Amino acid sequence: MSFHSMWAELLPVGRSSASGGYRRYAWTGADADCRVWFEEQAASRGLSYEVDRNGNQWAWLGDPAAGDAVVTGSHLDSVPDGGAFDGPLGVVSSFAALDELRGRGAQFTKPVAIVNFGDEEGARFGLACVGSRLTAGRLTAADAHRLTDADGVTLPQAMEAAGYDPDAIGPDPERLARIGAFVELHVEQGRALDLTGDAVGVASAIWPHGRWRFDFRGEANHAGTTRIADRHDPMLSYAETVLAARREAERAGAVATFGKISVEPNGVNAIPSLVRGWLDSRAADQDTLDAVVGGIEKAARAHAEAHGAGLDVVRESFTPVVEFDHALRDEVARILGKDTGLTVPVLGTGAGHDAGILSGNIPTAMLFVRNPTGVSHSPAESADEDDCVAGVRALADVLEGLACR
Ligand SMILES: [Zn+2]
Repeated sequence: MSFHSMWAELLPVGRSSASGGYRRYAWTGADADCRVWFEEQAASRGLSYEVDRNGNQWAWLGDPAAGDAVVTGSHLDSVPDGGAFDGPLGVVSSFAALDELRGRGAQFTKPVAIVNFGDEEGARFGLACVGSRLTAGRLTAADAHRLTDADGVTLPQAMEAAGYDPDAIGPDPERLARIGAFVELHVEQGRALDLTGDAVGVASAIWPHGRWRFDFRGEANHAGTTRIADRHDPMLSYAETVLAARREAERAGAVATFGKISVEPNGVNAIPSLVRGWLDSRAADQDTLDAVVGGIEKAARAHAEAHGAGLDVVRESFTPVVEFDHALRDEVARILGKDTGLTVPVLGTGAGHDAGILSGNIPTAMLFVRNPTGVSHSPAESADEDDCVAGVRALADVLEGLACR
């Protein structure tokens, strides 16, 4: 089955007619339809199919027990109203690359597998990469059992309803020990390749990133009768902090976003008593990120003081830099440049991936396919057909270079 027909088959699954975006949340009906599709693709190619203890799907060519397997794949779930490419491009390209290699008459010397990691986006339970985190031992079964969706349904309940055994979840070191390399192809979630004019690139690292909560405390009062001079309005210091974040990020070549806010008492005619803003910031390295967030916090304190407001800053989450395995990355870049003699762009990314989670356990690498607008996590996410085909060819070359030598 060609890339195009696989793509066309998957395209309507979980698509909202209202938004045109995808709502493929973990352990829902749309997710189940994607998983059936995956199983059918495995069966139609004579691959041996299995689901691991954490609900990740695997399609094997060759004996997994032989070890040193070369694995590729991605995820099929989506963010709320996500695009068609984030995740599925990697899975569809994996099957298409395998078809291409068989067409080339490739002789595999190692087992090869295609994987669909469950619940990568964390859209339903609020934690990303649950399937790979569990497998890598980066999320305990006890913590996973406490995950709850917006309707109060727990992860175990959701897994059970979808026909999986939630008591089986947990680390899977034996499975990871059989894998020599994992290569994930993904649509780029930025415009780096568009700017360099390349269809395909190789990932160098995933930027360190974190979330910080800024609580600006002032004094609630009447919006009509309180003189300007008498106000302790935390909204002002918040607003100035948003501008400071933009300045700090621009200066450092980093990114910083206040995308969520909560206000008390949240009345049109009331000066707020509390403005709580959440900062998401990412940078190429730890020192830069520390400097950016430090600069924002310093500005926030100065502005809060100037407006007679209090400030608490809490770091709510943090993920350190992920450096992809250098030897594998160099090998992938070498394979891709072999025929053309061209240098393949090697780029960092601000987005998290299963390949990043697994990089602590096994050598992992990523290929990015050009995204002409850079838009992602949106129905407008796109990639050109020619670039998708170039991605399949690149992935086939990489698999051939790694598994046929
Ligand atoms: Zn993704």
